[in-house]
Amino acid sequence: MDYFPIFLRLAGEPVLVVGGGEVAARKIELLLRAGAQVSVVAPELSDALIQKVAAGEIVHLAAEFQPEHLHRKRLAIAATDKRSVNAWVAHQAESQNIPVNVVDDRELSRFIVPAIVDRSPVVIAVGSSGDAPVLTRRLREKLEAFLPERLGMLASVAGRLRETVKRRIVDASSRRRFWERFFDGPIAADLLAGRVQADEATQEPQLDQRIIDSIANAVDRGAMPGEVALVGAGPGDPGLLTLRALRAMQNADVILYDRLVSPEVLDLARRDAERIYVGKSAGTAHVVQEHINELLVRLAREGKRVCRLKGGDPFIFGRGGEELEVLAANGIRYEVVPGVTAAAGCASYAGIPLTHRDHAQMLTFVTGHCKGETEQLDWQMLARPGQTVVFYMGLGHLENILGSLREHGLDKQRMAAVIEQGTHATQRVVTGTLAELADKVKAAGIQSPALLIVGEVTRLHATLRWFNTGGEQRSRHDELWNLVGT
Ligand code: SAH
Repeated sequence: MDYFPIFLRLAGEPVLVVGGGEVAARKIELLLRAGAQVSVVAPELSDALIQKVAAGEIVHLAAEFQPEHLHRKRLAIAATDKRSVNAWVAHQAESQNIPVNVVDDRELSRFIVPAIVDRSPVVIAVGSSGDAPVLTRRLREKLEAFLPERLGMLASVAGRLRETVKRRIVDASSRRRFWERFFDGPIAADLLAGRVQADEATQEPQLDQRIIDSIANAVDRGAMPGEVALVGAGPGDPGLLTLRALRAMQNADVILYDRLVSPEVLDLARRDAERIYVGKSAGTAHVVQEHINELLVRLAREGKRVCRLKGGDPFIFGRGGEELEVLAANGIRYEVVPGVTAAAGCASYAGIPLTHRDHAQMLTFVTGHCKGETEQLDWQMLARPGQTVVFYMGLGHLENILGSLREHGLDKQRMAAVIEQGTHATQRVVTGTLAELADKVKAAGIQSPALLIVGEVTRLHATLRWFNTGGEQRSRHDELWNLVGT
C-alpha cells in the first residue's frame, strides 16, 4: 500500500485551509461535514465562502499565508492556484509535522483525500493512490448505486444497541452471529425498506423493543448452533466464484480448504477467519477424510460457522456427499454452494466447447484415479465416438487410459487434450492424437492438477483458444472495464 487509509475524527478540531476559491470551498464543505473548525487564509474569498463567514461557519484570515497560521492545527489543506504558495504551505506544514494535502498535487501532499460514499455513520472511501482518479470516481458511482439509501440509519440503530447486545450476549462469536442474523433479518429489511423510521429525532421505542426481543430470543436459544457451508471454490480463477460462495467465505469463523483451492480465492475469505488446510496426500486419503469429517462435526458443535471450501464443485469427485452424510447423521445444519467444476472451467478457458452439434452429442465425467477403479470403467462405452469424455485425476494413468480407449476401438487419430492448472494465469494446454498425447504431455512436463479431455471437440482449441494467448491482455482489460462500467 502506498497510502495508509484511516478515518480521522475532526469534530471541533482546528483545520487550516489556504485559498479562497471554488476548490477550497469544496474541501471546506467536506471538512464542515466532519465538524472541523475551519480557518481560511486568503486575501480574498469567493461569494460562497463569504456567506459561510457571515453565517459563522468558518473563520477568515484576510492575509497571505504565514507559517504562524499553522499553529496548533490538526490538518492543513492548500488549495490556491499558485504552485509556489502551495509548495510553501506544504513545506511549512511538513516541518511542523502537520499532515498536509495540496489539492491535485500528490507530490506535495502528505495525505490525499479519497472519493467517498457517505451513508453516515457508514462511510466508504475509495482511492487509487492518485493513479487513476477517474477510475476511482467510477467505482464510487457503482457503490453509490449499489448501497441502500438507508444503510446509515441501519448502522446507527445497530450502534445505539451495541452496548445492550454486548451485555446480554457475552460470548464474542455468538454476538457476531447475532449481528449477522440481525442484518440479514426482518428488522433490518424493514429499516432498509423504510417501513420503520429510526432517525435520531424519531427514536422508536417500538423498534428498540423489537430488537431487544430478538436479543432475548437469541439468548434463550442458548449458544447459537454452528453450521457448515459446503462451498465450491471453482477451478482457480477467483472471478469464477459465485456470490453465494463469497458470502459463505465472508461469514465464516473457520475455513477448511483443500489443495485445489487457489491462494487468490482464499484471499477473499474473511480476514480473521481461522484457516485450516486439510489437503490430502494421495496415499493417506482415507484416514484424512475421516479426520476432516470429525473436524467438521466438532467445529459445528462448538457453534462455529464453518466454510468447507473445495476445488471445483463439491459434488463432482469432491467427496462432498460423504461429508454431508456425516453432518446429516449428526444433526448439523448445512448448505451446499455449487461451484464451476474443472471440466467446465478448463474447457472454457481452453476454448474447447464440451458439446458441439458436429462432434459430440454426449458428455461424460469419469474419474481416472484409484487402483482397480480404471479396470471397472465401461471402456466399451467410453471409446465410442460422437461424445466427449472428461477424465478427472487421470494424469497419473494417462498412458493406461489412452491405451484402453484404443484397445476398445477408438481410432488412434482421434484427438484429446490435457489442461494443466486450468483457469490460472499459468494454464497450459497440450493437444494431440491418442497415439501421441502421452509423449507430448511428458515432454511438456505437465503436472497435477491436470484434466484430460477426449473427443474431437479438442480440435477446436487451435481456433477458439483465447486465454493466455495474445488475447489475454484484452480480456483483462475488458474485465476491468466491466467492473467500472463503461
Ligand atoms: N471437485 C473438483 C474435482 C476434484 S478431483 C471439481 O469439480 O473440479 C481433482 C481433479 O480435478 C484433478 O486431478 C484434476 O483432474 C481436476 N482439476 C481440478 N482443478 C483443476 C484445474 N484448475 N486444472 C486442471 N484440472 C483440474
